[in-house]
Amino acid sequence: MTVNTATSDFDQQHLWHPYASLPPTYPNIVIDHAEGIYIVTKEGTRLIDGMSSWWASVHGYNHPKLNAAMIEQLGRMAHVMFGGLTHQPAIDLGKKLLAIVPAGLDAIFYADSGSIAVEVALKMALQYQIAAKQPQKCQFASTQSGYYGDTWHAMSVCDPLAGMHSLYGKQLPLQHFVPAPHLGFERELTQNECDELTAFFAKHSDQLAGFIIEPIIQGAGGMRFYSPEYLQLLRQLCDEHNVLLIADEIATGFGRSGKLFACEHANISPDVMTIGKALTGGYMTFAATLCTRKVADTIHDSAYPALMHGPTFMGNPLACAVACASIDLILSYDIEACTANMQAVMKQQLAPAETLDGVKEVRCLGAVAVIELETAVDMPVFQSLLIDNGIWVRPFGKLVYIMPPFVITDDELATLCQALLTVVTSYLNQTSTTNRASL
Ligand SMILES: *Cc1c(COP(=O)(O)O)cnc(C)c1O
Repeated sequence: MTVNTATSDFDQQHLWHPYASLPPTYPNIVIDHAEGIYIVTKEGTRLIDGMSSWWASVHGYNHPKLNAAMIEQLGRMAHVMFGGLTHQPAIDLGKKLLAIVPAGLDAIFYADSGSIAVEVALKMALQYQIAAKQPQKCQFASTQSGYYGDTWHAMSVCDPLAGMHSLYGKQLPLQHFVPAPHLGFERELTQNECDELTAFFAKHSDQLAGFIIEPIIQGAGGMRFYSPEYLQLLRQLCDEHNVLLIADEIATGFGRSGKLFACEHANISPDVMTIGKALTGGYMTFAATLCTRKVADTIHDSAYPALMHGPTFMGNPLACAVACASIDLILSYDIEACTANMQAVMKQQLAPAETLDGVKEVRCLGAVAVIELETAVDMPVFQSLLIDNGIWVRPFGKLVYIMPPFVITDDELATLCQALLTVVTSYLNQTSTTNRASL
């Protein structure tokens, strides 16, 4: 049986979608509305959302408290410029954030998307080094398999292959890359890994303004979990060599990794931190860059005290208001217990996938579960199996992964995992038959 799903000719002819060609290689599904953990297609097919709309919709859709916060703010003002003006939602959100982020972060720049928050973080680091009279420290380092967004400089620190450095060629600024941290949240660092990273800093730190990294979970660059010891070593090396540690918590922030912020796994604080995605509970495009007092003061006490960035929609009141409501909800859950439970359920439910022919590894951390296949997914085939089984998941390459909303019940999570197992099993059976047929 194949469930019918409406598509749109106009969409196919005129609308670009993320990382897609126009027209697309297969049509996009028209969604009519969404509620709780379900997204509902135009003809009424209900799909359990395994993606939280790319890490964002952590409270589910159409949440009464988030709706109320936005409607209340809408009656006051949807927007007002942030240049020369301020407003209560921005102040309230700032207070809420400073109360929960890793110790030491004390100044906030509101940005309009994750990529922009990363651009601002890089500018901040550069301006800091200029202000600290170390203008030669003007490059950045990152790990391979990282993902920091799609704007120019964010892209330059992304994994060189996934970030399409070869396509954009010489126009992209050259940055420094160390090998990706080894896989495994629970493993200890080997002497070899320590030596490698230490040697990298000894060689390049004179040119480095900052080292940017996704703490504990590398997201879109590979869905890889790594050891807190790596972050601790990185913190130590950044301190020794006067390099700012920039933690990109856009995906991991607000509980996804099992802690409120992934840096907490390593008990470290970054000098600069970016947040986004779940910041507004998936309601509005919004993000922020935070830094320590030292970074803010050093920039302030220099010949160029202003931070030269200012998006039109900076500090948007609707986004601030709904972010406040979202943080209140996060704090009302016992987020560590909630995500530990999700991890246990997903681990148990997805374990049978490990024995499937064509599956390389199954891994879970916090509220993220990954089934890594041996070859890249054939999306049209996989997607129609997903729809037939009533779930929405969006693999990339070999990675089939879920990061469900925190409000999902154990039963619903088990249903999602069982359906995903069914999909992966039939997909692997189907593709192995076609492979045989083509021999
Ligand atoms: C998604 C993401 C970004 C980019 O955020 P956008 O809002 O898509 O621009 C940056 N860093 C990380 C770690 C992300 O997961």
